[in-house]
Amino acid sequence: MELTQAQLDRAVGALLGGAVGDALGVPYEYGSRPLEAQPQMHGGGLGGIAPGQYSDDTEMAVCIARVAADGADLRTAEALDAVAAGFLQWYADGPPDIGVQTRRVLGETARQDGSAATMRRVATALHHETGHSGGNGSLMRTAPVALAHLGDPEAIADAARAVSSLTHHDPVAGDACVLWCLAVDHAVRTGELDVRVGLPLVDAGYWSPLLDEAEQAEPARYARNNGWVVAALQAAWSAIHRSASYPDGVVAAVNGGGDTDTVAAIAGALLGARYGADAIPAHWREMVHGWPGLRADELAAFALRTTATTRDH
Ligand SMILES: [Mg+2]
Repeated sequence: MELTQAQLDRAVGALLGGAVGDALGVPYEYGSRPLEAQPQMHGGGLGGIAPGQYSDDTEMAVCIARVAADGADLRTAEALDAVAAGFLQWYADGPPDIGVQTRRVLGETARQDGSAATMRRVATALHHETGHSGGNGSLMRTAPVALAHLGDPEAIADAARAVSSLTHHDPVAGDACVLWCLAVDHAVRTGELDVRVGLPLVDAGYWSPLLDEAEQAEPARYARNNGWVVAALQAAWSAIHRSASYPDGVVAAVNGGGDTDTVAAIAGALLGARYGADAIPAHWREMVHGWPGLRADELAAFALRTTATTRDH
């Protein structure tokens, strides 16, 4: 698939937009700092993060983006092993911020053979033990999956579920990743926002009313439970639906409160896919950085390398 300059800018926006939203939301995560009308990349948050530094949301997305940038088909066992290895490398580096569920899955997998199959098995066991594994931790990192399979909805859906289930067994987390990735794919290719484009590939009877509700509600309605993947997706879509630009959308996502960095990372990826990297304010692009020593240019390069290999499939 040959991409135009505008499509390439939107592909970069999907990755960079998520990272910028993440770094903008970090200071306010779960009330770490009072919300403000014009959020800024103060740093801080729950992990003592530096100004402009992104958190686990983007760090885990980078693990996926690196594999995708090498041209891998994310549905294959080899690619999933490489993603799993990246997650474990990140975990071994001692991230300042990591979700409860992800910590348990990665910790247990690290004690075993570290493979994707083991990680998935550990995640499944945790789901059966606790009765729930629908945290927002797989949705927050999912956007690079769309770039790896642009224009191929079936491949995107299969890959999104495979990568989600490495840490999150709950099918609702997989469905959320499918919906979001297909919206990112659609936005990159067409420049349009349509979160419903993926409904035929998920449980539409479950999701359709939730999307309707999110369009009627303010993002703040989900502040109390947006650590749950469904409420996180609703909060992100609510923020996007009420905004007409990248900055307005991420500001609305942050100011919905709760898990601010994650909701803004999720929203930022789709906003960036719609409005393009050029629509992200320069001072945010200049500040954003994070593990493993990346800045905006390197994040952009991952997106461009991924789409270049997509064209060769
Ligand atoms: Mg985070």
